[in-house]
Amino acid sequence: MTVAGPIPSIVGALLCQKDSYLQTLETEVVSCDEYVPPKSLQTNVKSKAKKSIDSEKGSDSGTATPSKTWLIEFADSVLFPEGGGQPTDHGSITPLTSSDPEAVLITNIQRHGLRCLSFSSKPLSPGTRVRQDVDFNRRWDHMQQHTGQHLLSAIMDSLDLPTLSWSMGAAGEMNSIEIPRKPSHEEIKSIQDRCNQCIRDNVAITVETPEEVDGAKKLPGDYDKDKGVVRFIKIGDLDYNACCGTHLKQTSHIGLILLHHTQSIRGTNSRLYFSAGDRAIKLAIESINSIRNIAVSLSSSTSLTDVQNNVQRLTDSYADARKREKKMLAEIATYEGARIRSVLESGKNAWSYRATDGLDFINLVAFEIKEAARDRGVVILVSGEVKTAGSIMIIGEKGMVESMAAKVKEIVSTVKGGGKGEKWQGKVTEWKKGEIEALKAAVENP
Ligand SMILES: [Zn+2]
Repeated sequence: MTVAGPIPSIVGALLCQKDSYLQTLETEVVSCDEYVPPKSLQTNVKSKAKKSIDSEKGSDSGTATPSKTWLIEFADSVLFPEGGGQPTDHGSITPLTSSDPEAVLITNIQRHGLRCLSFSSKPLSPGTRVRQDVDFNRRWDHMQQHTGQHLLSAIMDSLDLPTLSWSMGAAGEMNSIEIPRKPSHEEIKSIQDRCNQCIRDNVAITVETPEEVDGAKKLPGDYDKDKGVVRFIKIGDLDYNACCGTHLKQTSHIGLILLHHTQSIRGTNSRLYFSAGDRAIKLAIESINSIRNIAVSLSSSTSLTDVQNNVQRLTDSYADARKREKKMLAEIATYEGARIRSVLESGKNAWSYRATDGLDFINLVAFEIKEAARDRGVVILVSGEVKTAGSIMIIGEKGMVESMAAKVKEIVSTVKGGGKGEKWQGKVTEWKKGEIEALKAAVENP
């Protein structure tokens, strides 16, 4: 239902874009229509389609609630629609003239062509006066990350490290930019210093909306640049870029830019992680606290060098312990091999059991006895404990291996295995009570 009313502001000239520090606005409903998901989104079969619904429906997403969603357009908006790499605002709409002045929570605002549409769980009649309130902590965080990225990319551009793409991390997480090569430590330090110098210099960030726009500038396919307003963000002499997002007014409001680590991607490209402003401080505090916790569990001082040295020492001693354990296991296997050979020589079937070490130990023992077992009798090697998984190996004369494998399948309920001739191997999903004992008895008293 749309009635004649004020002509709504278009995306590009919304109040949230003209004054991104405004947190509240009294405005009026221009249109309100029930949201009908596009046909491709109406089936929840494909996970991709479901994801699209999630991102379009905001707070209504993910559940099969039959509740309706309404798309509301206002005369103007302090609530920013998703765009320019910046996520949707969150906020609320409070009707001012209705008998039901309860605030409606808004967690999804989207640009459709030139229109800014809020996804609402309640319909509001055109003409209704409302107050919009922005979740400004969320917006401020987005503006710090987003404006921080403009500054970071501008500085890296001047060092011949152009930004190929960027991604804002979810609340409290790192952001990243993709660049064509891995920067050196010196470059990272220099970029970090130059970013923070520019923040200290408190450079003004302004917006220009030229009448004529170079057709080569990248704009979304469904944005009509002839009817719309294309915004260029200018950071002093450093940056001049078309962008529809919300930005800080001066570089000092970014607070700081913290460069994290790099990661190699797509051949020689590199992803540089960063954070800005309050988010960077929060991440740094979390990091400091983690190091402290690691230091406490290592009984180390909190000096970074001490913590690193202690972690290295722990890793080294773990590797040594693993080596010693391996050697010891091989020694035990040698003794077990000798014992089995003497059992075989006495004309009996041999039973070998070890609760731990699984196939590692079984293979070591099998190596010790394979020749003795080929000549006479049969050996069954077993690992695992009740209620856990395990392994079984049978080696020996062909006919005896086959009949022993048949017995194993009779006794062990969860065994699966196979093999031909002189060796049979099986996996036990879970040993049941009494099965190991029954198997031992079957081997030793055939
Ligand atoms: Zn921007």
